[in-house]
Amino acid sequence: MRFLLENNILIPEPLSDKSDAKRITDIESSYPQPLNPTFEYSTELQHLLYGKQLLLDEIPFSLENIHQHYLNGYLQYRRCISKTKDGYSCVRCGNADQKLFASFGCARCKQDCAYCRKCINMGRMSECSVLVSWTGPSPIFEIPEKPLVWEGTLSPGQQRASSELIKAVQTDDQLLIWAVCGAGKTEILFEGIGTALQTGKKVCLATPRTDVVIELAPRIKSAFPEIDVIALYGGSEDRNKTAPITLATTHQLLRFYKAFDMIIIDEVDAFPYSVEPMLQYAVNQAKKDISSTIYLTATPNQTWKKEIQAGKRKAVTIPARYHRHALPVPEFIWCGNWEKILKKKRLPGNVMAWVKNHLEIGKQAFLFVPRITYLENIVKILQTLDARIEGVHAEDPDRKDKVARYRSGEIPILVTTTILERGVTVPNIDVAVLGAEDKIFTESALVQISGRVGRSAKYPTGEILFFHYGRTREMIKAKKHIENMNKEAIQHGFID
Ligand SMILES: [Zn+2]
Ligand SMILES: [Zn+2]
Repeated sequence: MRFLLENNILIPEPLSDKSDAKRITDIESSYPQPLNPTFEYSTELQHLLYGKQLLLDEIPFSLENIHQHYLNGYLQYRRCISKTKDGYSCVRCGNADQKLFASFGCARCKQDCAYCRKCINMGRMSECSVLVSWTGPSPIFEIPEKPLVWEGTLSPGQQRASSELIKAVQTDDQLLIWAVCGAGKTEILFEGIGTALQTGKKVCLATPRTDVVIELAPRIKSAFPEIDVIALYGGSEDRNKTAPITLATTHQLLRFYKAFDMIIIDEVDAFPYSVEPMLQYAVNQAKKDISSTIYLTATPNQTWKKEIQAGKRKAVTIPARYHRHALPVPEFIWCGNWEKILKKKRLPGNVMAWVKNHLEIGKQAFLFVPRITYLENIVKILQTLDARIEGVHAEDPDRKDKVARYRSGEIPILVTTTILERGVTVPNIDVAVLGAEDKIFTESALVQISGRVGRSAKYPTGEILFFHYGRTREMIKAKKHIENMNKEAIQHGFID
């Protein structure tokens, strides 16, 4: 879109008869208009646009209607691409890497038009495209006096974190919740979310993975049955709605702008949030200037740990699981040069014995391996013991089906790459890692893998073995991490 500027008012080119239109990127200000309180705005448009930044093409309203809302101060036109002395930068995703911009002969602005390649899958951000945001009043939602109806009880560890969280919400502060795998982190959030809702705050829970959004939605809905909850991920049907509680993948946050008073980032250490500055940029854009930010993790990275120790980052730890049993501590078992043995289509004797024993006693187990290339051979060898044994990896088209069959008990042993290090919870299993010395098994990966064991209250214990050909610093750090959590839990009386 190109605009004309008349008396400090932007006029879209199709609505003007003048001819000196400019692209929005080339206009210095966004010329916001004063709010006309008597204007009869569209509540449909309000619900679509509130807290969002959408491309003009994404808005199913006529340009005349949209423009009336601008003239009356209810929305804002914003540029998509900024030009700085270093080149272009993308307003939506923060990309400033010039290699990730391209340009084309644009039919709309009839010029060479640069666009951002980085976030193109969410609609093209170019020099002549326009982002539209709501600047009118926010939608009002009926909030019951007690929005939270959950009646479970929190463990003392959960309770401590929940109290800190409420404080952070009330003071619009930041807080890192460092909770061991199986601490029951969703329940910790309930009271804090309830507090936010009671004061009219809008809440977002963002997580890197679509599966988690889908899994969390019914749990949040049943804790807050009278509150609208929307779930956003690629292909979700809720994308044009607004609600007091939004669950979203971190990618979906790119469509939000100053929307949330409380934002919770789940698995903050997990790929891709930790390695992708775009997603951190998105979080900053999506929250209001005054808001609380809550980070959840079981395995904070080194920088964060140092900041916590130095008192530079507010954090609360939950060192114990809700069922009051200690975390299973990994045991290191030397298994020789397993790669060499594997070339002869065999596995180390102690690894074979471990698998055989599990088949005999009928206890399910995960066997983690470092790479897909080993996985197939290992599965083939193990299938000679029991044909029901399967392997799973990131590109496996049958991944979901195999995990479901494992959950139902149909698959006795599942061989896996680190893809299953998080999220999958199966009661009463043991876990082993083959080749625990491999680079891929970082402290955090090993802590997450160990966290698969003993999660349910019915089966709170289990075995976690690291079969290795030379112990690494990461292995030792992982073991220490778990032991320290157990020590802290004992000190606070969180475990029996
Ligand atoms: Zn253009
Ligand atoms: Zn971009």
